[in-house]
Amino acid sequence: MTRNCGRLKFVSAFFFFPMRSLLGRIGLRWDISGISNAYYREDFNRIPVAEKAVILPHCLIDEKCQARFSKAEGVLCVKCKCCPCGEISILCEEQGWQFYISPSTNFTKRLVQRKGIRAAVGAACDFEIEKGIRSTRITLQGVLLKRKKVIPQVLLTARYDCLKNDIDWDLLRKIILNGAGGV
Ligand code: SF4
Repeated sequence: MTRNCGRLKFVSAFFFFPMRSLLGRIGLRWDISGISNAYYREDFNRIPVAEKAVILPHCLIDEKCQARFSKAEGVLCVKCKCCPCGEISILCEEQGWQFYISPSTNFTKRLVQRKGIRAAVGAACDFEIEKGIRSTRITLQGVLLKRKKVIPQVLLTARYDCLKNDIDWDLLRKIILNGAGGV
């Protein structure tokens, strides 16, 4: 896909987003996170690793999670192996990425400002993605979080559920090791 073709697809996907339920009735459906991930991929991969972060939602942690919460850093994973977040946190440390578990979208917005994050891999369910599209300024150069531009890659959670949720952990590992779109 050429850059211009990707841009057209990206702009159309967001332009028609408010009409998606209407268009869905006549069989027109599209994967908004897949289209935006593909569009932002090259720019995402160009950002130096130290300015990249994995920011996971708290719905992925285990119910018995013993981690403490820090107002500055979010959920402080102690790598107990009860959920895959600990292993991802270790992989991020090894590869030079920042790693956080965030309790909310507002917390994430403050985090990217404080930590100088320029590109982030996050995870969200359809409901949160829709909420984010309505409340966040999305530009061709990235997503504006409290005036800070961040280039995203979004993984879909398996369910609309705030407890013991799941994502494609293999895909996340591949992004950390080989970049977005890498194998
Ligand atoms: S691995 Fe980390 S986030 Fe997961 S349950 Fe253990 S302490 Fe909590």
